[in-house]
Amino acid sequence: MIVVIGKGIFGLSVAEFLSREGQCKVLVLSSNEHETASSAAAANLATKAQVFARDPHFALKISGKQIYRRWLQQLCAESPQFRETNLSKIYVEGSGRDFFSNEQLAEKQWKRVQQSSSEIAARNLHQQELQRTGADSIEYGREAWVDAEVLLRLLEDVCRTRGVEFCECDVTDLVHLETLGRGAQALILCAGSKTPAVLEAWQVRELPPAFQKSRRWSYGATLAFEAPQVQLPQGVALLEWVSDAALEKLTFSGTPERFFCSSVSAACPHPHNPNTPGVPDAALLAQQQAVVVDALKSFFGLELNSLNHSWRWGTRLGFGHRELVVEALPHSFSFIAGSVVVASGAHKSGFLFAPLIGSLVRQKLQA
Ligand SMILES: Cc1cc2nc3c(=O)[nH]c(=O)nc-3n(C[C@H](O)[C@H](O)[C@H](O)COP(=O)(O)OP(=O)(O)OC[C@H]3O[C@@H](n4cnc5c(N)ncnc54)[C@H](O)[C@@H]3O)c2cc1C
Repeated sequence: MIVVIGKGIFGLSVAEFLSREGQCKVLVLSSNEHETASSAAAANLATKAQVFARDPHFALKISGKQIYRRWLQQLCAESPQFRETNLSKIYVEGSGRDFFSNEQLAEKQWKRVQQSSSEIAARNLHQQELQRTGADSIEYGREAWVDAEVLLRLLEDVCRTRGVEFCECDVTDLVHLETLGRGAQALILCAGSKTPAVLEAWQVRELPPAFQKSRRWSYGATLAFEAPQVQLPQGVALLEWVSDAALEKLTFSGTPERFFCSSVSAACPHPHNPNTPGVPDAALLAQQQAVVVDALKSFFGLELNSLNHSWRWGTRLGFGHRELVVEALPHSFSFIAGSVVVASGAHKSGFLFAPLIGSLVRQKLQA
C-alpha cells in the first residue's frame, strides 16, 4: 500500500499516477481544508513562450503542457461521471495576449522577454512564439487553461473507479496516521502550504536543503463568474491586462460558462514562525479586488453584482525561487516500510506540473 496525503492537485495527480497499473493499493488521507491553493487557482497553464525558458522548471512545464490534452482525454474516457464531457468546456488551448495600459510598460516588458535568435535556437524553441502584436500588446504562443474544479473532481472520480480509497484524517495526529498507514510501503506528503506544519508535527529535524530555503507565503483569490455574453478574442486562451493601477497583472481565462479572473494576492509571512502563514494585508487585498471589479466593467461592460460569481481564496507556499520541490525525507517511522517523499512548493504553477508530478515522485521512490 502507498499512502498519499492531501487531495489538492498534487495529491490527486500522484494518486492517479500510482494507481495506473493497479498493482498497488493506494490510500489518500486528507484533512478537510477549505482554503487550499488548488480550490483557489485559476489554473492558467502559462509558460509565456521563451520568457521563462530561464526558469529552471521550464522544460518540465512544456513537457506537461504537451501531454495535457491527451491526459485529460484519457481521464475522461475512464471516468463514469465525466465520459460525456466536452473537452472544450474544461480545457482551452490558444495564445496568451498581454495588453499594457501604456506603450512604455509594453516596451519595458518587450525588452525583458525578448531573447536573441541564438538563445532561442540553443533552447530549441520557436521564434514565432513571441510576438509584438501592437504598440501596447505582446502575444505568446501555446498557452492553455484547465478548469481546476472539474479536474480535481475528475481525478478523484478516476482514482475511486480504480479502487483508490479516500479517508478524512489530519496527519499531524501521528496516532491516527499510524493506525491508517501501518505497513505502507511508502508515504507521499502533498500537503501544500501545510507542509511545514506537518513536518514540524512529525518532528522531522533533518530537512532536505530545498525545504530550508526562505518561505514565500501568500494569500489570494480568483474571481469565478458566469458571463455567457462575453468571449475572449478568437484563438486567445489567456488575456492579461498589465497596468500600474492593477498593482498585479490581471488574467482572464475560461469559457463563457465559467470565466476566471486572477489574481488578487498578498504576501503573508509570519513575523515569528516560519512554519505557518501570517495575516495578509486586508486593505491591499480589498484594493486589488476593486481593481478586478473595475476591469470587468471597463473591458466587458459587466457589473459584478449582476453576475453569478464567487471569490475563491487560498494560501500558497513556495520555497525560495523553486516552484516545485520533490524530495525523499529521512524518517524514523517504524510503521512505514519504505520511503517518505514530499511533493510541495508549487507557488504558481501546480496545475502545469499535474500530468508529470506522479512520475517525479516515482523516480524518488525508486532512487
Ligand atoms: C489565488 C491563487 C491563484 C492561483 N492560480 C494558479 C494558476 O492560474 N495556475 C496554476 O498552475 N497554479 C495556480 N495557483 C497555484 C496552485 O494553486 C498551486 O500550485 C497548487 O494548487 C498546489 O497544490 P497542492 O496540492 O500542492 O496544495 P493544496 O491545493 O493546498 O492541497 C493540499 C492538500 O493537503 C491537505 N492537507 C493539508 N494539511 C493536512 C493535514 N495536516 N493532514 C491531512 N491533509 C492535509 C489539504 O486538505 C489539501 O487537500 C494559484 C494559487 C492561488 C492561491
